[in-house]
Amino acid sequence: MPPARTIDGKVHAEALRARVAADVVRLGAEHGVRPGLAVVLVGEDPASQIYVRSKGEQTLAAGMHSVTHRLDAATPQAEVVGLVGTLNADPAIDGILVQLPLPAGMDQQAVLAAIHPDKDVDGLGVINAGRLASGHPGLVPCTPLGCMILLRETLGDLAGLRAVVVGRSVLVGRPMAQLLLAADCTVTIAHSRTRELASLCRQADILVAAVGRPAMIRGDWIKPGAAVIDVGVNRVPFSDPVKAAAGRTKVVGDVAFKEALEVAGWITPVPGGVGLMTVACLLANTVAAARRLRGLG
Ligand code: NDP
Repeated sequence: MPPARTIDGKVHAEALRARVAADVVRLGAEHGVRPGLAVVLVGEDPASQIYVRSKGEQTLAAGMHSVTHRLDAATPQAEVVGLVGTLNADPAIDGILVQLPLPAGMDQQAVLAAIHPDKDVDGLGVINAGRLASGHPGLVPCTPLGCMILLRETLGDLAGLRAVVVGRSVLVGRPMAQLLLAADCTVTIAHSRTRELASLCRQADILVAAVGRPAMIRGDWIKPGAAVIDVGVNRVPFSDPVKAAAGRTKVVGDVAFKEALEVAGWITPVPGGVGLMTVACLLANTVAAARRLRGLG
C-alpha cells in the first residue's frame, strides 16, 4: 500500500476564498450588494480574541463588510440578545456569528436562538439543524461544510461510500453525518458509548474523527485506502523533554497521523487540514446568506 496522500487544507481554503471573493465582486457589480458579517465577542477569552480578529480580517480581504462587537464578560444576557436583535434588523448585515464559548452563566442556546435563521452563518441554530436533517436548503455549520468540500474535491462523487463519523456533537459530528447522508453515503455515527469502535472504523471508506482525544484513532483502525478526515484539535506537550519542560505544546489531531499515513488513501493533517477550511466556509456562508436574503438564488 503506497503511503496516503495528504489533503492540503491551505490549497482548498485558498481556492474557496478566491471563489467567495469573485462572487462578492459579482454581487456588487450585478446587484449593488456588499455582503456583511457581524461577529459578537463576549468576554476576553484569548483564543476567541484571535479567532475573531482573523475572521474580521478575512471578511475584509474577501471584499465584504465586517463589523465586530466586543462586549464585556459581565454584559447581561438580555443585552447580548438585544444586540443580536439589532443586527437581525440591520440590512447591511447578512451573517451574524456569536463567538463561542460564551462566559459562564450565559445561556448559549438562548443567545444562538435569537439569531435570525437566515443570518445564522454558523448554522448552529435549531432551524438550520432541522433544515439540514430534513434535506431543506439552509446554512450548514462551517467545519463539517469544510470537510465535505475537502472530500468532494478529493474523491469526487461520494455516493455509495460507507462513512463512519466518530463524534455526535451539534457543532461537528451530527451535521457531518447529515451532509454525508445527503451525498448518498451509508453513514454510521459513533460516540463514547459505541462498542467495538475499532472494527466499526475499519469498515469506513470515509472516516471522520471529531472527538477531541489526541491520536485516538490508530493506524489499524483504518481501512486500507480510506479517506480520513481529522477534525480534532488537541494541544499536547512536545515529546522532546526539553521543549516539554519549557511548557511548550503542539497541536495534534484525533488520528495517529504517522500510522494512518501507512494505511489510508487520503488524510487531512493537523494542523494544515480541516481547520483552515472553517473560516473560508464562514465567508462562503455569508455570501450564501446575502443571496438568500435578497432572493438572488
Ligand atoms: P465535543 O466534545 O462536543 O464532542 C466530542 C464527541 O466525541 C462526542 O460526541 C463524544 O461522545 C465523542 N467521544 C468522546 N470520547 C470518545 C471515545 N472514547 N470514543 C468515541 N467517541 C468519543 O467536541 P466537538 O465535536 O466540538 O469537537 C471535536 C474535536 O474537533 C475537538 O478536538 C475540537 O477541538 C475539534 N474542532 C475543530 C474545529 C476545526 O475548525 N478544525 C472546529 C470544531 C471542533 P458522547 O456524545 O457520547 O459524549
